[in-house]
Amino acid sequence: MQLARREDPIVAIATASGRGAVGIVRVSGHSLAALAEAICGRSLAPRHATNVAFRAADGSTIDRGLAIFFPAPHSYTGEDVLELQAHGGAVVLQLLLARCLEAAAERDDAAGEERLAGLRIAAPGEFTERAFLNDKLDLAQAEAVADLIDASTEAAARSAARSLEGAFSSEIAGLAEAIVALRMLVEATLDFPEEEIDFLTAADANGRLARVGAALDAVLARARQGALLRDGMRVVLAGQPNVGKSSLLNALAGAELAIVTATPGTTRDKVAQTIQIEGVPVHVVDTAGLRDALDEVERIGVARSWGEIEAADAILFLHDLTRLGDDDHDARDRAIAARLPPRLAAEGRVLDVFNKVDLQRLPTEPRPAAPATADNAVAISALTGEGLETLRRRLLALAGWQAAPEGVFIARARHVHALQRARTHLERAVAHAALGNRALELLAEELRLAHDALGEITGAFSSDDLLGAIFSRFCIGK
Ligand code: GDP
Repeated sequence: MQLARREDPIVAIATASGRGAVGIVRVSGHSLAALAEAICGRSLAPRHATNVAFRAADGSTIDRGLAIFFPAPHSYTGEDVLELQAHGGAVVLQLLLARCLEAAAERDDAAGEERLAGLRIAAPGEFTERAFLNDKLDLAQAEAVADLIDASTEAAARSAARSLEGAFSSEIAGLAEAIVALRMLVEATLDFPEEEIDFLTAADANGRLARVGAALDAVLARARQGALLRDGMRVVLAGQPNVGKSSLLNALAGAELAIVTATPGTTRDKVAQTIQIEGVPVHVVDTAGLRDALDEVERIGVARSWGEIEAADAILFLHDLTRLGDDDHDARDRAIAARLPPRLAAEGRVLDVFNKVDLQRLPTEPRPAAPATADNAVAISALTGEGLETLRRRLLALAGWQAAPEGVFIARARHVHALQRARTHLERAVAHAALGNRALELLAEELRLAHDALGEITGAFSSDDLLGAIFSRFCIGK
């Protein structure tokens, strides 16, 4: 770990802003016992909830609540942590926060006291960053903290909790351990050139390499599922007016509307909603907003919607079965089709959805030419729900979702990329192993690189830039 350890104490309101029964101000740093005593008017027994009056500098009461003092190293951050649980009002928590800053400054001024040099407001994620730097959590677990807070579906929350408990990290540790054993074997062989290949053969190096590779593939597959649970898929509803786009969105949403959080990058305007299918968050964008813009503000919104379409994982292109065959209608459908990104069509990511199949069942109506038999077509009724299950399954298949949510741990794109890099290096290692004596040094090097790639996931090897990028996306106070 290269990141410089910052020692200055930090403070933040840890609970969400707004009214609440309880609100928490949290302080982390060294030697906080004196600060606790100044604010609570008494010393606090370690890790006991003590009912106290939080006191202003003049001795008056700011609020009454619970104070808990966690002396280092047995705390969330690994430093001294003071938790002040007051009533959850914006003003009272601000007063308490200000009191912490003021009390720290008083102690700084007092001669002979241990200094609380520069207590300051915490940056986003700084408490968790310290937990990571003090080895309370590894990096994948620290990321799971943020993913749990931001989870938009129950399955995502449960899998984030699983990663936080260390399920993902222990898979990575298992892989790393197997690679370390191989590295030791290969490097020992390098030290004793006369033994070389016989030694590796006797130790079944090739068999071991193959087993690590298979185990890594399994973890990669699960990490991909975990990344899908975290990031979800983006689906765009396209089609002419009145084909049933909003009816379909409502039918898909049903009781399954996901909770949309303020995750950066999640669209929150009125034409987009996040629903869930088997716990996978599906961000659905309705292109109702894609008309010719009337003013500048709307133009920006429309441009953004087209941006969403460009970034979509799949497009549901809705058609009204009762209007198929009408020349005007069909021409307008072709015009829409022409605007859809060719990349998505080429990858089979445009699903033709023929809606209002219930009306087609009326005996007086002609049957349509069976469009729903094609692989990328499905007939539904947004009204009766017919065909929706098939549509959901098609969407999940397009997303690449295979697993039942149990057993999935949450993961991020960066984890998937690191695992892919580790796999590439392992594949090269296998190729070098096949060359025998000549390539032992290269084999050792590829194993080292595979090991490093795994280390990036748990933070054993990570740059300050990466850590900055990860923790700055946390909320303040976490
Ligand atoms: P949008 O303009 O594409 O969003 O279409 P709407 O969802 O507003 O639907 C247009 C009309 O078609 C409404 O009157 C809906 O009730 C009706 N509609 C939508 N889906 C169906 C369906 O599956 N069957 C029937 N019979 N009517 C539908």
